[in-house]
Amino acid sequence: MGSTPNAAPQPEPTPEPASPAVPAPHTPAGREGLAALLAHPERAVVALDFDGTLADIVPDPAKARAHPGATAALARLAPQLCAVAVITGRPAAVAVRLGGFDGMPGLDHLTVLGHYGAERWDAATGALHAPAPHPGIAAIQAELPGVLDRSGVWRGTWVETAVERKGGRAVAVHTRRATDPQHAFETLRGPLTELAERHGLIVEPGRLVLELRPPGMDKGVALADWVRETGATAVLYAGDDLGDLAAFAAIEKLRSDGVGGVLVCSGSNEVTELAERADLVVDGPRGVVALLSSLADRIGSRR
Ligand SMILES: [Mg+2]
Repeated sequence: MGSTPNAAPQPEPTPEPASPAVPAPHTPAGREGLAALLAHPERAVVALDFDGTLADIVPDPAKARAHPGATAALARLAPQLCAVAVITGRPAAVAVRLGGFDGMPGLDHLTVLGHYGAERWDAATGALHAPAPHPGIAAIQAELPGVLDRSGVWRGTWVETAVERKGGRAVAVHTRRATDPQHAFETLRGPLTELAERHGLIVEPGRLVLELRPPGMDKGVALADWVRETGATAVLYAGDDLGDLAAFAAIEKLRSDGVGGVLVCSGSNEVTELAERADLVVDGPRGVVALLSSLADRIGSRR
């Protein structure tokens, strides 16, 4: 035996686990965007959708919470960047609460753009900017139970669990709990579009959800305005749903103006359109957390 007599056995040093590499985008534009972000992280921004991206999709949207580790991963990455934002269809204050963003060290400069940019919460000031809602929303809320009843898809108490009253700025009808969710979605699409148009609103389809909201509330407009405000030279955006296509389009436009861009799809088997447009597809919120962590590790390792 080669050990020194009387010396306590020394434990083998545990090697630090190698941090996983940042996943490579499969498109040239995405690889260029990621290179621009990594070259100058202090001039880069990251924006993310909430539900399906930072938080897992759950049958009752009121019970959604940030995926374990998501807020921490974002908080670790944020101080290394110019700015971070969450862009969501939810009211800004609700996203702040469900994400546990308020008071989180590292997220002291987070911006939450709620209701597709109609609302804004800044962690730095704690201020919530929330202008008056569109009058059509109240009218739609009053008529909705009748429209749903007449559709024959669902009745009575269903209304209470299926209708999400997004802070009076939008109304979302979820069909996830119907006996046949896809059939319910297709059946309701026409009547809800008619109802929305009658009150000057539009219908935005999502993952087994039809959202009625004012025109011009759009993640693309919200993202482009925020990126311009930050003066960022590179932007990564991650989303999971059809409403994120507008943000993807905004990044494609920013790219043509010389800003580096990375389009990330938080993949699910419910939406394929976004994956087709993305530079990088990750495995749902879990994959988004891994991506944020790998970016934080990669940027942090060079300091
Ligand atoms: Mg989403």
